[in-house]
Amino acid sequence: GADRPAADVEAEKKSGAPPFEVPEVRFTKLFINGCFVDAVSGRTFQTRDPRSGDVIASVAEGDREDVDLAVKAARDAFDHGEWPRMSGSVSFLNSIRDALAIAARVCRSNALQVGMGEKKIVSEMWQERGRIMTRFAELVERHADELAALESLDGGKLPAVTKAVDIGNAAGSLRYFAGAADKIHGETLKMRGQFQGCTLREPLGVAGLIIPWNFPTTMFTIKVAPALAAGCTVVVKPAEQTPLSALFLADLAKQAGIPDGVINVVPGFGPTAGAAIASHMDVDTVSFTGSTEVGRLIMEASARSNLKPVSLELGGKSPLIIFDDADLDMAVELAISANFFNKGEACVAASRVYVQESVYDRFEKKLAERMRSWVVGDPLNDPRADQGPQVDKAQYERVLSYIEHGKREGATLLTGGRPCGQKGYYIQPAVFTNVKEDMVIAKEEIFGPVMCLMKFKTVEEAIARANATRYGLGAGVVTRDMEVASRVVRSVRAGLVWVNCYFALSNDCPFGGRGMSGFGGDEGMQALDKYLAVKCVVAPLRGSPWM
Ligand code: NAD
Repeated sequence: GADRPAADVEAEKKSGAPPFEVPEVRFTKLFINGCFVDAVSGRTFQTRDPRSGDVIASVAEGDREDVDLAVKAARDAFDHGEWPRMSGSVSFLNSIRDALAIAARVCRSNALQVGMGEKKIVSEMWQERGRIMTRFAELVERHADELAALESLDGGKLPAVTKAVDIGNAAGSLRYFAGAADKIHGETLKMRGQFQGCTLREPLGVAGLIIPWNFPTTMFTIKVAPALAAGCTVVVKPAEQTPLSALFLADLAKQAGIPDGVINVVPGFGPTAGAAIASHMDVDTVSFTGSTEVGRLIMEASARSNLKPVSLELGGKSPLIIFDDADLDMAVELAISANFFNKGEACVAASRVYVQESVYDRFEKKLAERMRSWVVGDPLNDPRADQGPQVDKAQYERVLSYIEHGKREGATLLTGGRPCGQKGYYIQPAVFTNVKEDMVIAKEEIFGPVMCLMKFKTVEEAIARANATRYGLGAGVVTRDMEVASRVVRSVRAGLVWVNCYFALSNDCPFGGRGMSGFGGDEGMQALDKYLAVKCVVAPLRGSPWM
């Protein structure tokens, strides 16, 4: 999965394995209530291959009316379907009366468990649900090559890396949360007086899941898996740049046996389809990953509609701090992968690299040397490629304009920073030196292959500068001195901190940020909480005047 050593992935990438075949695009319509359908308006939009700018496919363009239909399907599946009633917790209860009856029986028998009959129902239901989610994971694994090639075609990603990291993580997430479905339970409360109470943790309802384009398969599954495990039904809005993998996954979900209406996928644009989900009165929660600006709009839409809880995974400007006792070759490799992995289109990219003054010059030299062997190339046809094209023209132009801005502000380009290739959206990765903290390139998230290299003197200075941002997503520290590492770990304001590594993750690592990087993480058991509501149930004790 995602925690495979980078060396393995690297070896696979360079092994000269046969190039991934360009996949046939089979799914281009909206997926609502288990069927692929056209948009109500009949409109479509084009998704393009970033290697050339050519159109790959026309995809049905969802809008407000389509979101209404998808939410209705999800609502029906939640209110009347089997899915929310399959989970391994007391959330299978249909009504408050059932809840009270069981709570009263629990109190009477003095046993803190449900009766055998109910237990049997619970375990059978879980088996069914666990089996379905596990089957979904197996199908994702079985189609890993096709999915990885689809991601490369639609998003310019390296297929071997995508297969190992993104698809591995996606299947892992489905398995992880399949195993969590029977571990959702409430508590027995110690009440005063003649009452006893318990809490139920119930699925929240219909979850709106709005995802970005940089890790489309992973984003889909890390949101869908905990929502399904909790018993929610979902409406997914993939990014308009990369709608294809979400539709492919919807088909696999159906093959796995996920009932109709439980997963709905509505490709379309943010201000139309996305905004319709965020403001929908019948959507009970929204989990969003994307930019900080749109995160604000999602919160506003919730405030203006039904006050649905929202969780936001937003941007970052993460620091990587390299101390003078570090293994410099390793530090160079870390800085490169922390910046240029997935062409810099990673929310946790360590786009501010701080190197301790005494080793700065050596580090800079080694980095420049190493970048000479970095290959920017066609991800589907060049097995040597370390980096493919940026996701689309807009992102390509945005990154190039940040690079121009950096030059105008007085930063120096150590390497790269120019467009390359005959066609498509390829950029030579840029390393800037002579960067000052108040420059735009050091402050704003660029979301492309642009590294800012800076010097520091002391631990205190490094920590202060690392924290001088409104973001708080990732951070890295490279040192052999564990006391220094521990000081940085505890002082840096971030949701994820890596020591002598970067990007190492697996499905039980909570992933999320602080400050303007958002709140309410994905992955790890805590992600389940986003899709659950706590209900408190109180009943009289046996022998009390109430019974
Ligand atoms: P974006 O915010 O423009 O788009 C993300 C999603 O939101 C897309 O599906 C888009 O269609 C939708 N959207 C756009 N406007 C909307 C609106 N008004 N209402 C509802 N939905 C709307 O971001 P992007 O350019 O696609 O992605 C890049 C950003 O995502 C970067 O800032 C990056 O840091 C962030 N990101 C964060 C994480 C994380 O886990 N924290 C992961 C990946 C990407």
